[in-house]
Amino acid sequence: LKASFTVVQYEMEEMNGYITVLSDVTEQEKIERERREFVANVSHELRTPLTTMKSYLETLTEGAWQDKEIAPRFLDVTQNETERMIRLVNDLLQLSKMDNKDYKLHKEKVNFIGFFRTVAERFEINQDDHIHFEHHLPDKEVIVWIDKDKMTQVLDNIISNAIKYSPEGGTITFHLEVKKQQQKLHISISDEGVGIPKEKLEKIFERFYRVDRARSRNLGGTGLGLAISREMIDAHGGEIWADSKEGEGTKVTFTLPLLKQPQGDEE
Ligand code: ADP
Repeated sequence: LKASFTVVQYEMEEMNGYITVLSDVTEQEKIERERREFVANVSHELRTPLTTMKSYLETLTEGAWQDKEIAPRFLDVTQNETERMIRLVNDLLQLSKMDNKDYKLHKEKVNFIGFFRTVAERFEINQDDHIHFEHHLPDKEVIVWIDKDKMTQVLDNIISNAIKYSPEGGTITFHLEVKKQQQKLHISISDEGVGIPKEKLEKIFERFYRVDRARSRNLGGTGLGLAISREMIDAHGGEIWADSKEGEGTKVTFTLPLLKQPQGDEE
């Protein structure tokens, strides 16, 4: 515990004296430190793609633009870096919106199974045969109260990570299960990828944390996807966590409270 003392002298009508104000500044200091770290991280994350682009553009200007083989490759790099920077700024805007205390979700009643199928389909269509998908979904409706745009972002983040870290020909498994006693829906997405060391499993939900910084960057990552997902799931009254075995794969699970059916749709 860290405390600060403020001594205030007062003079009031007939009385005068001192008041000592004692306040705990531990929390304040922590917030201030986190804020400074965040700004440092953001600056670093933005500077990296900018420096890369600068040196590629310099080389092109100095003559490489005439080289039919090098020029398209260098332009490709600068384009990828620009796209990553746009993603980063979008993620930062998203976080800053969520930090605002007036931040609101636009929740509606949704059958999660149908909704999930639509989101997952978008990924499956784009994968050709590089990755296989397996579904274990309940065959009846599961009604939840969600903000569809935000939930799409959460699923996008988790599924694209599963794809990014999967080996060629790997299988991604979607498992949706109603836990009646907890009145919750459990949604899990498993892959057969590189996995995450046990001691890092909690950290991956922190802003800017990556197990392998260079690898994430090469794959176009911003290090913010899971931090945003955790905040969104929190705002829905759910939880999110990861289980993993290094070299075998990762499973990311999140829960959503079930919307109570007034008619009692008991199985
Ligand atoms: P990134 O943009 O780097 O993917 P995320 O916040 O989405 O950022 O994830 C944070 C880190 O968690 C990643 O950099 C990666 O190290 C790790 N990670 C997330 N999902 C997986 C996964 N399915 N398999 C292995 N590592 C993962």
